[in-house]
Amino acid sequence: MKAFSQMIFIVCFINGVILLAQNNYPQNYFRNPLHIPIQLAANFGAVRTNHFHMGLDIRTNSQENLSVVAAADGYVSRIKIERYGFGNAIYITHPNGYTTVYAHLNSFFDGLDQYVKERQYKDEKWEQDMVLSPKQFPVSKGQLIALSGNTGGSAGPHLHFEIRDTKTEECINPLLFGFDVPDRISPIISGMYWYDRRFSTYEPGANGITVKKVGNMYTTNLIQISSPTISFGIKAIDKANQGFNLGIYEAKLFMDGQLKYGFKIDKVSYEDIRYLNGCIDYTKFVQDKMSIQHLSTLPGMKLEHYSTGSDGIINFQDNEIHNIEIVLTDVNGNTSRLVTKVQFTKILFKF
Ligand SMILES: [Zn+2]
Repeated sequence: MKAFSQMIFIVCFINGVILLAQNNYPQNYFRNPLHIPIQLAANFGAVRTNHFHMGLDIRTNSQENLSVVAAADGYVSRIKIERYGFGNAIYITHPNGYTTVYAHLNSFFDGLDQYVKERQYKDEKWEQDMVLSPKQFPVSKGQLIALSGNTGGSAGPHLHFEIRDTKTEECINPLLFGFDVPDRISPIISGMYWYDRRFSTYEPGANGITVKKVGNMYTTNLIQISSPTISFGIKAIDKANQGFNLGIYEAKLFMDGQLKYGFKIDKVSYEDIRYLNGCIDYTKFVQDKMSIQHLSTLPGMKLEHYSTGSDGIINFQDNEIHNIEIVLTDVNGNTSRLVTKVQFTKILFKF
């Protein structure tokens, strides 16, 4: 029994090491910016109107004025005060090459609050975007920097938290830094769609395929298709252990065991934010508030660090039945599989 539990431990340990070894981001360098356990209301890469969500929305027990602390040593490098967007926000630059951002705050710590008010008074301007030098407001890990709130474009009290590469300003998925966010729930697939790629994906648009769950696997009936050139889309959500709907971290599409297309949301730069509309079925999103994510590259799509494999366009060369597998994985490695078969049914004319 002891040997068995030791073996289990070793297997889990190796799995953990493999998972950690998959990214180069410092693990556990940053602490939870709140004094309560992290519960997510939204994750990195969640689909929003015209953009990806660029950080974590951390729940604050539906309250305002919770203590927000510096995630690591560093200095206050920027303060933003705006009516919409981030509301009141603090940026802290850390010596390890990353900057953390805390938004929708109610107020800043004493000295900083005073400094900001003086600047607003001097400029006779309430909205501010100020850059600060390293000597002005150094902070240490765990130091109180602000009180949480609901300022700016926020629909309820929460803390919006981002981690950026200081040099490139790319936003990185904070969950890759080893925060403790318990999650044993696999992504949930609710729909599959195919698109006739002889035409634009907007017109004639998505063809629905009914998805059913059998055991712990998803499947559909045999998908019979009349176009020789198609692509697929998927409608799915993820959940952590609490009930909020989160965005999908990673998806892969295989045909006959070969990777046709994959996406993974590790990092996104603010310059590329608009390419979100090339990752989803924009028509369905606008008309039905439904987010179907394409498992193919759309024309003009230039989002870096997003897709792997080829372009996801399937060109049928025969009328055989082909195996399709879609694999969705969250940051904690929980995986869901959709396994089905597809067949092109029109007669192929060969010259
Ligand atoms: Zn947010």
